[in-house]
Amino acid sequence: MKAIINAKIITDGKILVGYNLLFVQKIITITKELPIWAEVIDAGGAYLSAGFVDIHIHGSGGADVMDATPESLEIISQTLLQTGTTSFLATTMTMSPLEIDKALLNLQHHKNSVTGAKIVGVHLEGPFINAQKHGAQNPEYIQQPNIEIIASYLEMIKMITLAPEVEGAKAFMAYLQKHYPKIVLSIGHSDATYMQSQQSFKEGITHATHLFNAMNPLHHREPGIVGAVLANNSISCDVIADLIHIHPAFFNLVYTLKQEQLLLITDAMRAGCMKCGTYTLGGQKVIVKEGEARLEDGTLAGSVLKFNEALKNFYNHSEIKLPELIAMVTKLPAQKLGLEIGELKEDYPADLVLFDEAFKVLKVFVDGELRYS
Ligand SMILES: [Zn+2]
Repeated sequence: MKAIINAKIITDGKILVGYNLLFVQKIITITKELPIWAEVIDAGGAYLSAGFVDIHIHGSGGADVMDATPESLEIISQTLLQTGTTSFLATTMTMSPLEIDKALLNLQHHKNSVTGAKIVGVHLEGPFINAQKHGAQNPEYIQQPNIEIIASYLEMIKMITLAPEVEGAKAFMAYLQKHYPKIVLSIGHSDATYMQSQQSFKEGITHATHLFNAMNPLHHREPGIVGAVLANNSISCDVIADLIHIHPAFFNLVYTLKQEQLLLITDAMRAGCMKCGTYTLGGQKVIVKEGEARLEDGTLAGSVLKFNEALKNFYNHSEIKLPELIAMVTKLPAQKLGLEIGELKEDYPADLVLFDEAFKVLKVFVDGELRYS
């Protein structure tokens, strides 16, 4: 048994001081007791929380999920530890059916073999999106919603970002709701109006992907997706808090309205945790400089955001309290996906992160094992 002592433990909306976290592969308890046989880890006053859960990430460390190789999955998994991430949804891109199939097949075979952060499922971003709002997704490969191309992989798919207004989307969502009700259907890369968005909430959409990005802006006479999501308490959403994708003035505004329905994501691509330079995303050239990743035409192409930096940005530009902030990257995304991770709860996996006041990640445990320090 291991015991983390001398930590400020962030759990359940509180920060506990003077307690110890006892764990093996799983969390045993949070207690003031310290069994003499425990292997003691002194946190030196650092914060301790559940490991972070990123529900939208394409790559990092020079590797991308669409590389469709076990080596790339391992690089991403290892690289993400330094950002405090212990679980993530491997996120695909709009590419040819063959490329998507290769990426999904690779995940099916190798997602459980990675030795860093865990791959807890797949987020399919496209190809069932609207060409009007393709963003950095290659419009050439956009398709009508179609179960066939993903039929063999539905058990591992946890989330699908789609445009609910396109032809075929309604039947597609109805099928998934009936047969795979746990898959989160998320509106994104969509040109839906306010009315269409509202309609989609009745047809299965429960979440919005990178709110504000790849959709029409909020307009007071046509509130669009943003207005529909902000006005509906039962729809959750996520934002990319890199200070580039949305103005930080919106952090507090969206949090005030959405509360526990707001999550953070990175949407990081291959260049995450890497130097400036030229990379690719979905087969397209991406130039990374000064913290921005853009296609040659200037379109934002995912991010190079680190998850711990997203937390720092959001914290510095909003009035959110630390326990609520940490919930946005732990308990809330886990609950949205229906996964028993993301909380410092008895019998939950001991996925733990120690970080300092500046959100610098100090140590990361996955399933009770020290994997980053
Ligand atoms: Zn993305």
